[in-house]
Amino acid sequence: MAGLYIHIPYCKKACHYCDFHFTQSLKQINDMVDAICLELEMQKDFLGNDTVYTIYFGGGTPSLLEEEHLRKIMRVIQHVYSLSSNPEVTLEGNPDDLTAEKLQIFFSEGINRLSIGVQSFNDEKLKWMNRQHSQMQAIDTFHNARQIGFENISLDLIYALPYKNHDLWQSDLKQILALRPEHISSYCLTIEPKTAFGNWLQKGKIKPIDEDFAAEQFEILLDTLTKKGYDQYEISNFALPGYESQHNSAYWKDEKYLGIGPSAHSYNGKFRKANVSNNAKYLKGLAEKKIPFEIITLSPEDQVNEYLLTSLRTKWGCDLNLLKAKYEVDLLHVHKAYLNKLARQDFVFEDEGFLILTNSGKLLADKIASDLFI
Ligand code: SF4
Repeated sequence: MAGLYIHIPYCKKACHYCDFHFTQSLKQINDMVDAICLELEMQKDFLGNDTVYTIYFGGGTPSLLEEEHLRKIMRVIQHVYSLSSNPEVTLEGNPDDLTAEKLQIFFSEGINRLSIGVQSFNDEKLKWMNRQHSQMQAIDTFHNARQIGFENISLDLIYALPYKNHDLWQSDLKQILALRPEHISSYCLTIEPKTAFGNWLQKGKIKPIDEDFAAEQFEILLDTLTKKGYDQYEISNFALPGYESQHNSAYWKDEKYLGIGPSAHSYNGKFRKANVSNNAKYLKGLAEKKIPFEIITLSPEDQVNEYLLTSLRTKWGCDLNLLKAKYEVDLLHVHKAYLNKLARQDFVFEDEGFLILTNSGKLLADKIASDLFI
């Protein structure tokens, strides 16, 4: 079982909080699509003979792709890789690009899951983050997508925006529940150094995120969504029954994936590799039929620690038998006293060989995982 990730490194404008890899000049997008197609062909053996169950167009902004771009990439994937009979094919997009016409094109080309960057339903806050769409555009996009036939839609929201109280967060949640997407991802605003917000923070134009305020908003999120039937299957991800993202779940379960495009990462069960995070270097390399990447060697300890960090964020938890069989680590033995203490405090429990965090444990997930590092 394996996944394919395609990175589309373009955005119309930089959102003030974002430090992903992208450029705002679309001049070379045709060359980029050709290079991505070539890399797909050159990397066909990376996953061995594993069947591809999920394809994910992320970015950047994949909704900037034109019909012929997506068609080219999809044809190469279908031609070169062994796909399951009904793969999950996700495309990330922004409401300002996802016109009814574009949605129809994406649907016809085999996209069966949309992940729409809404972030907030408040126009003032959208402007503050330098988002390019309005509340109405987000709502219209959702309804258009439904009308066209998308039955699996994920919407993203950001919390811990500098509201005076929780009213606006509650109204964002009310609005998203009125739409009732199959999936909701919600992340805490973070202020990264090389972003506009990072710069503003340094100049004292904005305050750091108030952690208590953020924790309160997270609890409101958890309480509101779970009461309405959404299952929190990962700390930041909620789904109606049967609609967990298969692609992201595979990352958290230590499965193989191949990332294509600048800055994309791959993992084949043995090692990880990272493509260069530079469009010009990536295009130059591919023009010479060489993929510019570096191998990231992970020691067995690194692999265990990474697995702890990701698996403990999920509802499935950490597979203690996998740790024993693959890495010869008996976590219950190594951290016996600490785990007993966490269990007494109602932060963790064990269920059929899996170590799982309780709701209160999830609030401390990163701390608990790092305490368990070997
Ligand atoms: S948040 Fe999305 S749209 Fe905004 S700059 Fe980052 S990748 Fe681009």
